[in-house]
Amino acid sequence: MKILLIISILFLTKNTFAQFITPSPERITKHINYLGSDKMKGRGTGSKENAKAAGYVARQFKKMKLKPLGTDGYYQPFTAKIRRVIVEDSLPETKNVIGFLDNGAVNTIIIGAHFDHLGMGLQGSSKAEKPEGQIHNGADDNASGVAGLLEMAKYFSENNIKETNNFLFIAFGAEELGLQGSRYFVDNPTVPLEKINFMANMDMIGRYDPKRGVGIGGYGTSEQWPGIFKNITTDTKFFTDNAGSGGSDHGSFYAKKIPVLFFHTGGHDDYHKPTDDPDKVNTIAESGILLIEIQLIENALKLPKLKFQEVKN
Ligand SMILES: [Zn+2]
Repeated sequence: MKILLIISILFLTKNTFAQFITPSPERITKHINYLGSDKMKGRGTGSKENAKAAGYVARQFKKMKLKPLGTDGYYQPFTAKIRRVIVEDSLPETKNVIGFLDNGAVNTIIIGAHFDHLGMGLQGSSKAEKPEGQIHNGADDNASGVAGLLEMAKYFSENNIKETNNFLFIAFGAEELGLQGSRYFVDNPTVPLEKINFMANMDMIGRYDPKRGVGIGGYGTSEQWPGIFKNITTDTKFFTDNAGSGGSDHGSFYAKKIPVLFFHTGGHDDYHKPTDDPDKVNTIAESGILLIEIQLIENALKLPKLKFQEVKN
């Protein structure tokens, strides 16, 4: 009887613990409500709100006790190049935010998501009729990805397991101006590129459509991915796509011959419009997507460093 009691207490504790660190729709909602709020004015590159968003990510990294691995603490500042004059925002100074989970391993897995968006509609690429002066909240694009990044960082830093790889968590700046943060990182890496096992990118993972499912790109970038994708347990519908580049920051890593994964729930009517709002994000579905990502990474951790392969057309 006593033993049974102890076992059940242990079981309960373990379950409560797992619940605490596995992706939580409540925490995802909290992150997206903050980053995608009108107060954040669309996190346009060079704006004060863009810097505030970076500060938010850095504070979360610090709470999780990740090591700062930028060039200025958690920050890796850089100057973005702009294609047109930005009226509202002054200097296009921005940064990547970089936190390191040091497991004392040789190789490192990079998990990333961009935190910038279109600001007040002055930096181009808005699909609104009159974008100027409108807050482009970017809740799906890409507060959803940043929330995912923070949940992945929480899971791997608080699971009390010393994985066979280190993890580098990066929130990229200036993605909307042409993948500038990720390009800046691969040209100025804070871990040697040859020690990067693979990179997993999340960009727009908040609009899960049960008919379409979540797309997972990069499947063709290593011959080991098909094996890693076997035996994934999930109710979330997903499909794979071979492409290693296209549309987001994983492309910068693929260009350096690093295997990648890219999580994306697809385009929608609010894409790059002021109506990409937090209340439209399905955070329960997002937590399901993150559970797939965790399983893929855990499967990959059982293997030696993945071999890169170029994707054939
Ligand atoms: Zn995006």
